[in-house]
Amino acid sequence: MTGKKLHAPPTMKAAVFHHAYEPLSIEDVPLKPLKESDVRVKIETCSICHTDLQFVDRGLATYKEPPIILGHEIAGAVEETGKKVTAYLPGDRVIVPATISCGTCLFCKSWNETQCENLKIPGNHIDGGYAQFITVDQRHLTRLPDEFSFELGSLISNVLVGAYHLVFDRVNIRQGETVVIFGCGGFGLSVLQMAKLKHAHVYMVDIFDWKLNIARDYGADGVLNSNKCRVCEEGVCEMLKGKADVVIETIGTPRTLVQAINVLHKGGRIVLSGYADNTLPFLVSKIIMDEIKLIGSVGAPIREIPDVIKLLKDQRIRWEEMITGHFTLDKINEALNTLRMGQSIRTVVHPNKTDL
Ligand SMILES: [Zn+2]
Ligand SMILES: [Zn+2]
Repeated sequence: MTGKKLHAPPTMKAAVFHHAYEPLSIEDVPLKPLKESDVRVKIETCSICHTDLQFVDRGLATYKEPPIILGHEIAGAVEETGKKVTAYLPGDRVIVPATISCGTCLFCKSWNETQCENLKIPGNHIDGGYAQFITVDQRHLTRLPDEFSFELGSLISNVLVGAYHLVFDRVNIRQGETVVIFGCGGFGLSVLQMAKLKHAHVYMVDIFDWKLNIARDYGADGVLNSNKCRVCEEGVCEMLKGKADVVIETIGTPRTLVQAINVLHKGGRIVLSGYADNTLPFLVSKIIMDEIKLIGSVGAPIREIPDVIKLLKDQRIRWEEMITGHFTLDKINEALNTLRMGQSIRTVVHPNKTDL
């Protein structure tokens, strides 16, 4: 009875999310068949984002119903190509974007790809990067320069290009503006650096000194550990000697959302980018009477990835300090723990390595 085995579909190892409040489970899952213009990418690195914890620890719903493979910060090498793939060969190093847009809807055609009607986020709408392979259409990929590590590719795919999109496109931060960023995670530290490129005055708020030290090193004009002041808002306004033109909230908790809006002056812009399913915890009248602009930001169009690669090649953006841990796929639940404990900025999962 060997026949059955011969015809068994090829499989890969993946960390599968079934239910919130449970560990991810390491399983063999079938490989997705390749369509003509698809590329199968062997995933070298997928870094963990706080959004993943929202699904696992907080019960935030994924768009695709579980079981689903989480992870949206993916870099790897081309393993196999469909018949009509012309742009890539096996072995080519690539970045898989965290937001995949269709390219054909009205929003995509008007250069608002992140508002795509068919937007797909790996690890949310479709299976993501905590697996040995991912299959995507060739047009969504970007080449990872040879001199860049896969870890850097993972950072580019989500936080670096997302921060670029937020600062340069969604908010258009201007020279001399006062910017406060709540959250010193990978996204906060990336936004900080992009805002400094615009010559803004940038202040960071977090509850971990070691993260705030990196922020200072990355050029923050001031940092505040909000656990160390009685009223966070007072501490921030003292640091700023006033209120902010722009506040970027990267955490998404009701408490930090309130703190964020309270440090904004009239006519200011508040940017929400910490993915959560909380409702807004402040008064509508505050938005109206202070003429506040409320701005959302998600991911980035892939056409902005080359701009970020150029900034990195010109050494205008730092990133190495953001990589704080490495785990194999079977240790993914330990890897998630490093985020839970506040010990991580970006913990990297290496799905095709068996030891590190
Ligand atoms: Zn993310
Ligand atoms: Zn579209």
